[in-house]
Parts: sequence; C-alpha cells; structure tokens
Amino acid sequence: MRILVTGAAGFIGYHLSRHLLETGHDVVAIDKVNSNERLDILVQYENFDFRHGSIADISFLQEVGEVDYIVHLAALPDVRKSIGRPYIQIQQDVLGYISLLEYAKVLERLKRMVFISSSSVYGVGGGFSELSPTMPIAPYGVSKLNNENMNTCYCHLYGFPITSLRFFTVYGTYGRDNMVIWKFIENIFLGKPISLFNNGMNERDFVYVSDVVDAILLAMFDEKSTGHNVYNVGTGTSVSVLEVVRIIEDILGKTATLETLPPQPGDIPKTCADIIKIKQDLDYAPKIDITSGLRMFSEWLIDRLN
Ligand code: NAD
Repeated sequence: MRILVTGAAGFIGYHLSRHLLETGHDVVAIDKVNSNERLDILVQYENFDFRHGSIADISFLQEVGEVDYIVHLAALPDVRKSIGRPYIQIQQDVLGYISLLEYAKVLERLKRMVFISSSSVYGVGGGFSELSPTMPIAPYGVSKLNNENMNTCYCHLYGFPITSLRFFTVYGTYGRDNMVIWKFIENIFLGKPISLFNNGMNERDFVYVSDVVDAILLAMFDEKSTGHNVYNVGTGTSVSVLEVVRIIEDILGKTATLETLPPQPGDIPKTCADIIKIKQDLDYAPKIDITSGLRMFSEWLIDRLN
C-alpha cells in the first residue's frame, strides 16, 4: 500500500510512519520541516519517500500522485499559541487543508482519508462524547472543528470516506521538548522548578502514543464505514496534572519544585474521552496506563539527558 502521511517529521507522524514502514507499506511523507532527529531515523527506510513542502501547496501535492490512504497530521498543534496567532492558525490549518481535500477528491485509488482532530473541539460544551456539543474556545479547536465540517462536505460531494479522530492529550517518546510531560520529567530530573497552571488541578485524558497509532491503523483499514465518521481517541480516564507530577517523582525518586500559577486563557479544567463508540465500531482498546506510559517515557528521556 502507498500511504501519504502529512506531518511525518512531527511527534505522532514519526511513530505512525515508522510503524507503517516496518509493516511493509510504502510511506510518502510530507512536512514543511526537512531536518530533525525523527526524519534522520525515517530516511533510513528504503520504503520512505520524503517530500519537503506544505500541504497548502496544491501543485506540490499533485506531484505525489496516487495513494491508497491519506493520514493528515500536519498542523500547528499548540492551543495556547493559537490564541496569539489566529490568522496564521486559520490560514495554514484551515485554508491549507482545502488544498489537501482538493488533491484527494480526484484520486482514483484512495480508499480512505484519516483526519487528526482534537478534543479541543469540545471546549466548554460540557461533555466528551462524539454527540456532545462542540464549543471550542481557542482558534486551534475552531480550526479542527471547521475541518471536520469540511470532511462531511467533501464526503457528501465526492464520495470518498473520511474518518476524523479526536485525539486527547498524547505523550510518549520522540515528542516535542515543549510538551508538558517532557518538561516535567526533564525539570524534575535536573532539579529545576516546574510551572503548574491552575495549581495542577487541570485533569487530562493522557494517551500514550502507541495507543493513538493503533487507533489510526484501525480507522485507516476499516472497510465497513462510509461517509464521514468521528471518533474520540483517549483512554477513557483522566488524571490531574499534579497526579502526573507525583507519579514522575515516584519513578525518578526525586521531589519536584512546584511553581503554582493561575488558569490560562483557552484552557479547560478537565478532559476525559468517552471511547464507547470507537470501542464498539473499531475494536479499539488502549493498552498503556498512565503509570506504565510515564515509566517508558521517563526511561527514554533520562537516557538521553544522561
Ligand atoms: P507536531 O508539531 O509534532 O507535528 C506536526 C508536524 O506537521 C510538524 O512536523 C510540522 O512541521 C508539520 N506541519 C505543520 N504544518 C504543516 C504544513 N502546512 N505542511 C506540511 N507540514 C506541516 O504535532 P503532533 O503532536 O505530532 O500532532 C500531530 C497531529 O495530532 C496534529 O494535527 C495535532 O493537532 C493533533 N493532535 C495532537 C495532540 C497531542 O497531544 N500531541 C492532541 C490532539 C491532536
């Protein structure tokens, strides 16, 4: 199978691409970043075809040609930053996405497109089932919701199936060093203070990266569903940020120095995925609990810091 992965040089794109390459698929990878540690690993696979460019550039996309599947991960994924750059967020992630859809709609081999959305679409709607109201409170969540709506539109108009996966908070190896869990492990290990917004009381459904890769694969190779389908991807449980700190302290055998700060604009106090739909339709079953995930991630990161 020839599979297009956008954002392949990023955290989740790297893990997905590597899995696909190791299971014998041909991966055409697009990213506007053309050099980093993750790409250095991926380019070693002979079935990896990297194209440096933007998903917003339709002629660049057309040069990729026919593919069997598309997994669209490329985005500006920072909720807080999106508040300060609404034009850029919408221009790149929303207008840019139209180019990908326009490219996809004429492909003859395309079996399915998987769009990576976010729990941010729920915002202050008050629930986390796919039927809950969507009331995003940051441009990032608005961009994801808009693209989900575009998916419904393109499926209806052009007949190819699209699955939108609403990821909750993903963590794991080869993440970005500005991600919260990365910073916690690094700072606790190095004896530096860590900042806890909302006094660490925000609760998140933290999902390990291998579990979201499983969900993408289940969604991609789903042969039953047609049209546009939306699924949550999390663990179905949430823990407070302070609890995460306590687990890391336990794993590292060190005590954190905490700087407690007020809630941040655009943050919601709690997320917790309702995963009944993806369990029922796609047999999704998250395997990594928070303690095991934090242990694997800490071991990997400490090894690098040493
Ligand atoms: P990441 O920033 O590590 O990876 C995104 C990659 O996309 C980067 O390499 C970036 O260079 C690339 N990119 C961005 N815009 C592009 C464009 N216009 N053209 C080509 N490449 C472009 O992010 P990630 O954590 O791997 O997230 C992947 C996807 O999952 C994103 O869509 C994000 O919104 C979504 N998501 C992530 C999380 C999470 O916790 N990490 C949670 C919910 C949803």
